[in-house]
Amino acid sequence: MSDLAVVGAGPIGLAVAWRAAERGLAVTVHDAGPDGAGAWYAAAGILAPVSAETVGEDELSGLLVESSAVWPAFAAELEAATGLDIGYRTEGTLMVALTAADETEARRVRDYQTGLGLAAHPRTAAELRGCEPSLALRVRGGAYLPGDRQVDPRRMMIALRAACRAAGVTFARARVSDLADLPDGRAVVAAGCGSAALTGLPVRPVKGQVLRLRPPDGRAPCFRHVIRGYAGGRPVYLVPRPGGEVVAGATMEERSDRLVTAGAVVELLRAATDLVPELAGYELAEACVRHRPATPDGAPIMGPLPWRPDVIVATGHYQNGILLAPLTAELVVQALTGPDPEERFATFGPSRFGPP
Ligand SMILES: Cc1cc2nc3c(=O)[nH]c(=O)nc-3n(C[C@H](O)[C@H](O)[C@H](O)COP(=O)(O)OP(=O)(O)OC[C@H]3O[C@@H](n4cnc5c(N)ncnc54)[C@H](O)[C@@H]3O)c2cc1C
Repeated sequence: MSDLAVVGAGPIGLAVAWRAAERGLAVTVHDAGPDGAGAWYAAAGILAPVSAETVGEDELSGLLVESSAVWPAFAAELEAATGLDIGYRTEGTLMVALTAADETEARRVRDYQTGLGLAAHPRTAAELRGCEPSLALRVRGGAYLPGDRQVDPRRMMIALRAACRAAGVTFARARVSDLADLPDGRAVVAAGCGSAALTGLPVRPVKGQVLRLRPPDGRAPCFRHVIRGYAGGRPVYLVPRPGGEVVAGATMEERSDRLVTAGAVVELLRAATDLVPELAGYELAEACVRHRPATPDGAPIMGPLPWRPDVIVATGHYQNGILLAPLTAELVVQALTGPDPEERFATFGPSRFGPP
């Protein structure tokens, strides 16, 4: 008999399940799978509290900064609990711009970041290339963001599943089609894009296409930092993994289909090779599509359903669900085991969208 049913075995559901089981709750996670169905399978795993889309979003930014601060301990505990490497890396990010307009955009992001008290050091083209010699000669300038981190979401998910099992979490391999079908007791809905059908809340899929490139001859990637670039108005990120691949992403499309399109591949590769020309010689190892669970205001939904207070929702994490997983789990488990984190649930709770 479970104290808690968690719907969805993505990063949010598993982080909640792990932390709740550690606090002594008997937890069952419900998900049909197959493993890899969620948005996390495509995610780059950039842990950056500021991006172009979050500039000016002060409440959301507060949440992102707070979760970013929780990440080092979360990564260390997850690795210690499982003995698994989750690809957590701390080299930081280089933000790079190719044109004058790109520089203006990079400066907007950098200024907001420093306004939040986060380090963002301006860098000249020569300084950037001194740091990463494989950057294109055309790079005009940018910044070094030492506080940004990265994790490999696929490794993180293997570790989260192992940590859950070790903490006694059980898994029910079935899709939940109605909350009424769950056993009596408390529940957490963390079903990503599937949360809308279960709760009536406004969570919509935003399609992301992402590429994985592999260096020839099993070499390591030709750069070490995450590169967030603006290449002639096209935003692109390049994430080097120690295992040898480079993740290049990602499109943002208001679509729910699962097609890898020629246009997206061309655009991503053009932006990627404009910033790091050597990538043109890499193998195109994978093109992948998943959908970010987005909300009308771009912020997650966290808190009890007003019409079913025994059900807590933790969804709508859009493009930051990997970054926000540790803090989301903390807030949800706090609500399950003690008084609600009232202020956070008032700001990010389901009621802000009115009745479904
Ligand atoms: C291309 C791309 C790049 C991204 N890059 C980053 C990044 O760099 N950094 C970052 O922080 N975030 C990133 N994200 C966002 C991140 O992946 C998501 O915010 C995160 O995965 C959301 O976690 P989740 O657990 O809520 O949902 P998901 O990861 O989508 O998992 C949801 C789970 O719920 C299950 N489910 C759905 N419906 C039901 C149901 N009815 N019953 C049972 N189970 C159900 C699904 O099978 C799935 O396993 C990226 C996303 C994409 C698509």
